[in-house]
Amino acid sequence: MKNIALIGFMGTGKSTAGKLLSEMLDLQFVDSDEEIERKEGCSVKDIFNCHGESYFRDLESTVIKELSQCTGCVIATGGGVVLSPGNMENLRKNCIIISLKATPEVILKRVGSTGARPLLDVENPQHEIDRILNSRQGLYEGDLIIDTSCMSPDDVAVRIRSFIQSEKHSSSFSMEFGDASCEVVSGSGVVEDIYKFICSFHPEGKVLIISDPSIRELWGGKLQRALDSHYQLDWCIIPNGEEHKNIDSLSQIYDKAALMRLSKDSLIIGFGGGVIGDMSGLASATFMRGIPYVQVPTTLLAQVDSSIGGKTAINHREGKNLIGSFYQPQMTMADIFFLFTLPPREYISGLAEVIKYGIIYDNGFFDYLEKSINDILQLNPKVLTEIVRRSCSIKASIVQQDEKDNGLRLLLNYGHTIGHAIEAATEYKKFLHGEAISLGMEGAAFIAAAMGLISENDRSRQGRLLAAAGLPIRFPSMDKDKVLDLMENDKKVKNGHLRFVLPEALGKAGIYDEVPESLLMDALEQLKND
Ligand code: NAD
Repeated sequence: MKNIALIGFMGTGKSTAGKLLSEMLDLQFVDSDEEIERKEGCSVKDIFNCHGESYFRDLESTVIKELSQCTGCVIATGGGVVLSPGNMENLRKNCIIISLKATPEVILKRVGSTGARPLLDVENPQHEIDRILNSRQGLYEGDLIIDTSCMSPDDVAVRIRSFIQSEKHSSSFSMEFGDASCEVVSGSGVVEDIYKFICSFHPEGKVLIISDPSIRELWGGKLQRALDSHYQLDWCIIPNGEEHKNIDSLSQIYDKAALMRLSKDSLIIGFGGGVIGDMSGLASATFMRGIPYVQVPTTLLAQVDSSIGGKTAINHREGKNLIGSFYQPQMTMADIFFLFTLPPREYISGLAEVIKYGIIYDNGFFDYLEKSINDILQLNPKVLTEIVRRSCSIKASIVQQDEKDNGLRLLLNYGHTIGHAIEAATEYKKFLHGEAISLGMEGAAFIAAAMGLISENDRSRQGRLLAAAGLPIRFPSMDKDKVLDLMENDKKVKNGHLRFVLPEALGKAGIYDEVPESLLMDALEQLKND
């Protein structure tokens, strides 16, 4: 078996995550700095002090060469190992390379300013971290790059294990919409073969990839390598975050598209979460009155929800998603590999949409999720592939029956009436979207149970699954009146009555236009109960 080599700057978690990983995989763990200390009989700091950095780097190269010739080891390397191309060449020969990164602030917090790290034994360690990171830009390239800033060492080890244990796999189906069709491809490692899928409808020409800086850094290399030799390729990078899903970013995309002279024979690829997907879709729908586009979604929410169905939008200062259109991508490609680098909270938030499909549409899927929740939380690649595939297929099935949102598709709003109001009441700061939807689904289930639509047993099964996934199902400090006010202003009000999607059993839901306000108040009260 190949070794697993962890590279990354100091404080990115190589040793701690590496040890955990070696236990999980039952492999030997080695730390290159410890090897050097063992050989020299003194600490790295003393080697630096007595002999200087270049003496240390020579020792490091010898140790890296030896270690990379082992088999079946997890190797945590020193932060400077990437400075020598020879080291990287040796590692690449016999190792899967996992690169760990973290923000400079997190790095400083983790390594402290104790002086134990010789390179940071300076007056202003934060500046020094910034400086060294800058000077090493582009050197920490790996088969997988993980930002560990918001992850525990266990989270990191679990994600590396899933990556290592993933077997290449793909499955696909077609969605038909009158004169348009969309191929939905899902699986693990599929992005490496993206050209094979795209070439049937776009064999050559120009491609503009729209993405954000995080995705560009973590996954951009893989997509670039997969497409580079086939197309005239360029990137448009929009800053991260919902606040950039606006007219300025759209305009930035138009500028790039115009400069590249994109035409109907070109292709746009939206490469990122739902924010990038929605904007790329709208840009593609409107530039030259519509040019072909492909969605390569990288968050769980985007893979199972926003990249399928052709809804595109940007926000206006007066409201979310106010400007948009329906425009189907030629293809959506959901690769579970991307999920291994997603911050755990974003991943769990996406699970709310997955669970939603089980409740509104497919009780067999709900049973499967209940049974597999531990594997889902452990990012078991087989289970992950299955939940992404089944979610995509449920969303596709609903959307194909009601492309323009006039009936069945409204079921996808399950949990959204209360959820949106909670998001707005907390100024979009307290909860991620899926977390608010989890509370909304819980509230809607309270209403459904009070109306005699679902049994108490089904209602509590939903709550147990949401909670087991790590989603919130209670909000004790909720301002009920504010949430109610916001709901009354929401677009889901029809003729003065609140519109709710309510479960009628696990796997079946309906739309109810006349939910009495008293039941809604009771449901909100129950959400507040701890
Ligand atoms: P997002 O696009 O803002 O992504 C969340 C964060 O995760 C970003 O900072 C992003 O850089 C980062 N990220 C993305 N992929 C990553 C990866 N693989 N590894 C590490 N970091 C990664 O959020 P989202 O939840 O994906 O999407 C929310 C948006 O989707 C909202 O704007 C919402 O309106 C829209 N949406 C659209 C539809 C639709 O049908 N069109 C449906 C649901 C939601």
